[in-house]
Amino acid sequence: METIKVVKFGGSSLADAKQFHKVYDIIKSDDTRRYVVPSAPGKRFKDDTKVTDLLYKAYSAKTELEFNATFSEIKARYQEIIDGLNLDVSLEDEFKVIEQDFKKGIGEDYAASRGEYLNGILLANYLGFEFIDAKDVIFIDEYGNYDVELTDKALSKALKKTNYAVIPGFYGSLNDKSKQIKAFSRGGSDVTGAIVSKNAHASVYENWTDVSGFLIADPRVVKNPAIIETITYKELRELSYMGASVLHENSVFPVRKEGIPINIKNTNHPDDPGTLIVESTCHKPTHVITGIAGRKGFATVMIEKDMMNSEIGFCRKVLQVFEDEKLSFEHMPSGIDTMTIVISTDDFIEKEQKIISTLHRAVQPDSIILESDLALIAVVGRGMKASRGVAARVFNALAKKNINIKMIDQGSSELNIIIGVRNCYFEAAIKAIYNEFIDD
Ligand code: ASP
Repeated sequence: METIKVVKFGGSSLADAKQFHKVYDIIKSDDTRRYVVPSAPGKRFKDDTKVTDLLYKAYSAKTELEFNATFSEIKARYQEIIDGLNLDVSLEDEFKVIEQDFKKGIGEDYAASRGEYLNGILLANYLGFEFIDAKDVIFIDEYGNYDVELTDKALSKALKKTNYAVIPGFYGSLNDKSKQIKAFSRGGSDVTGAIVSKNAHASVYENWTDVSGFLIADPRVVKNPAIIETITYKELRELSYMGASVLHENSVFPVRKEGIPINIKNTNHPDDPGTLIVESTCHKPTHVITGIAGRKGFATVMIEKDMMNSEIGFCRKVLQVFEDEKLSFEHMPSGIDTMTIVISTDDFIEKEQKIISTLHRAVQPDSIILESDLALIAVVGRGMKASRGVAARVFNALAKKNINIKMIDQGSSELNIIIGVRNCYFEAAIKAIYNEFIDD
């Protein structure tokens, strides 16, 4: 089968002419990199503003003065790229149309999408690739989900006609024939990259960014954490659910279903292997654990009743109370005469008293004890299944740091161990676990 790579470049990879140059070299160094999905120019330095944010700002400007100032800033960002690369292209006519459309009040999604649209035109020109406007090949419903049927039909047809093309990320058209521009949620170029990969039958979806892959732990908690070399989709789901910021969550399913791996790569260090996200793998994980992530801000509702274990339907009645209040819970550790519901404090707090009284009526408990400063930490790793003593090492690492564990939950898939500690021990607990498994 023919090797086709789809490459998506994030905003920081295309923030200015210097970055465009790196992107050019990456694409031209491998002629199987055939379909390119760009984001809008992102931040060039820490306090810079992304073009997407400038577009939102210009669109919502209250005065002509504010509009002109922001619009000029946007124009200057693109002009710097054109000049820096000596491109023989002018965006003047495009900007005239955009300005008129903004003044007509054409819609926020259209406004935001112009960042990717214009960047796509420049990148296609620079590479000598065809430009395919995403409005003609990506269709999105009113809730921001991609319309699989319409998109796959139009996009696969367009890709068959050309070997090398740039398709801007983040937007498409509404799927109702109105031809109105509709954007995905923020970060949505990841989703476009996945959809293009699916329809190009890519052998890999390369997602180029400014880090050399996913980190084992949050760098705000652990200094210089190591990089995850290979991760499965399931592990990724566990980690991102527990707060690790990774890809846009809708960018996984189009490629996962087709068995296409995602490779996270660094535009500034293209030779780094990055992180490979796969459905399953025989690659032995480098460490027993793949990653650690967690979130603060959980409450526990402990319900105690003598002889609870013999009361049929007790658990269902308790859960019904939470369901009726439309509250979703995280975990439910239980003892013989106790059960505990772990729930986000923010969600719970408003309805707290109502829930307690309803619980009293529903199951007549002996007592209900509330606590509200729990942090949950997930230690995730496909390697756990095959190795003994992982839980012991986690508990030992915490004990050595005098951290009390308030809750333990190991899913039967043996993919993760979740532990609850007090919010104030959150950072120390993550560091202790990291040091135990990674720095060994
Ligand atoms: N430019 C858009 C954003 O800033 C989409 C993206 O970069 O993926 O969210």
